[in-house]
Amino acid sequence: MEGRHLVPNPDLLAAALSHAARGWHVFPLRPDDKRPAFPDHSADDCTDRDPRCRNAGHHLGWEARATTDPDRIRRAWTARRYGIGLACGPSRLVVVDLDTPKNATTGPTGLDTLADLAARNGAGIDPTYTVTTGRGGTHLYYRHPDDGPPLRNTAGTLGPMVDTRAHGGYVVAAGSTVAGRPYVVDLDTDPAPLPGWLATLLAPAPLPPQRPVGVNLPTDRTGAYVRAAVAREVDRVTTAGKGERNRSLYIAAVALGQLVAGGALTEDNAQALLEQAGVDAGLRTAEAFRTVRSGLAAGAHRPRKVAA
Ligand SMILES: [Zn+2]
Repeated sequence: MEGRHLVPNPDLLAAALSHAARGWHVFPLRPDDKRPAFPDHSADDCTDRDPRCRNAGHHLGWEARATTDPDRIRRAWTARRYGIGLACGPSRLVVVDLDTPKNATTGPTGLDTLADLAARNGAGIDPTYTVTTGRGGTHLYYRHPDDGPPLRNTAGTLGPMVDTRAHGGYVVAAGSTVAGRPYVVDLDTDPAPLPGWLATLLAPAPLPPQRPVGVNLPTDRTGAYVRAAVAREVDRVTTAGKGERNRSLYIAAVALGQLVAGGALTEDNAQALLEQAGVDAGLRTAEAFRTVRSGLAAGAHRPRKVAA
């Protein structure tokens, strides 16, 4: 079956070009599959092997690779029978993904849930660009609001069987197949603006206030010593090569954890400084948080006192 995918499919190319002509950013999916074809590695596994990451100087995920450029689209889709991924963020789209329960008798469908929500907000579900998915679900395409916070993906936030895709998310676009089942345009019209009541329900929770990141240390010799140690460890993290960042963050956290245990620095301060260094180096916040916490805990077993 694999060889079949090497024969380009003019319908897939035409579909990818027509999506791009609407301003939608597309990227190749593995043939007959939901997963992106490129990159073939995660940010943490990124090495200089991938030419696009190498040229960019940093890891390029599918969202950054998505394009509306007809030449790039032609090159990709004349090489292989790729599916079409549609990156919602750069396309300024919010796609509401309505699923159906595996067993139709067990609960409401996504469409039931959405219709119910709309009614409670005194609204209906107006016509918009609609795709029927391979498994019989429905994708409703909306224009991302021009103002307000960028909306991200949600899963079940609106209710059962309803997910949404926006910044950081993608959908399988019409013209593709997944496991032999086609994604088909059900209503071909311009996407409607995302209804205000939906935008309100999907708005992200406000971020917690930023903790101050800075070292409050005495100006004496001890302070100078600790300040230098902190700068060295932060440097270790921010200058670490790709693939070494998480390990460097751990080593830095162990070192500062020893100073924390010795009383030279507060744990909150060390945690905030190193988390920030990890995020600056390109790690995800949650990952940086976990790594710093476990490094500080390990360092706490071997306290280091700074002599005054
Ligand atoms: Zn990469």
